[in-house]
Amino acid sequence: MNIVLLGPPGSGKGTQSQLLAESFNLVQLSTGDLFRQILQNPHHPLYDELQIIKQGKLVSDEVVNKVVEDALKKLTNAKGIIFDGFPRTVAQAKALDRMLSSLNRKVDVVIDFNVTEGVLLYRLLGRRICPNCKRVFHVNQGYIECLDCKVKLVTRDDDNEEVIMKRFKEYKEKTVGVQEYYRDSNCAYISLTIDDIDTTPEEVHQQIISELKERDLV
Ligand SMILES: [Zn+2]
Repeated sequence: MNIVLLGPPGSGKGTQSQLLAESFNLVQLSTGDLFRQILQNPHHPLYDELQIIKQGKLVSDEVVNKVVEDALKKLTNAKGIIFDGFPRTVAQAKALDRMLSSLNRKVDVVIDFNVTEGVLLYRLLGRRICPNCKRVFHVNQGYIECLDCKVKLVTRDDDNEEVIMKRFKEYKEKTVGVQEYYRDSNCAYISLTIDDIDTTPEEVHQQIISELKERDLV
């Protein structure tokens, strides 16, 4: 089973990707993680091309596709793959279909995390991060220091309302095409609405499992 996760930053799809990987023995493919690995290795052939990320610019479809294709080649034995952060454009979605079909795979499920503005703002404005290990906390937990490192927690510069809403708007505009592309395809399309700040990651995970069961996918 190969799964594509769609959702804005703060939707919790990274956490859900991890939970799904554990539950069904799948491999996570996060383009964010892959980019970070390449940027730590000056000898990587795409090292120079990815420098634009540091300027806050978007990586071209061509380069993203190349990164994903290289990663897929190493996952030939995977039972299934979860795509987190990819595809972001219709061109990438089409490229993914081609890559998977050459490996006798396909996108089986798309899970679309529809998080309301209120939940997104609550989560991101309250986010506190350990500058050392990057562990994420919420201000409502009441911690001042990281539980692991005992380092003082900080807020990210870009976690302010104006930047969050701008990112959210951009995300929605860009993703409409990808959503339509998958809705028109043969894969199972699961749309989850997350509108309650008290919903826990485990509850969302159980909801996903029941949606998969309903469709006889697990
Ligand atoms: Zn820490």
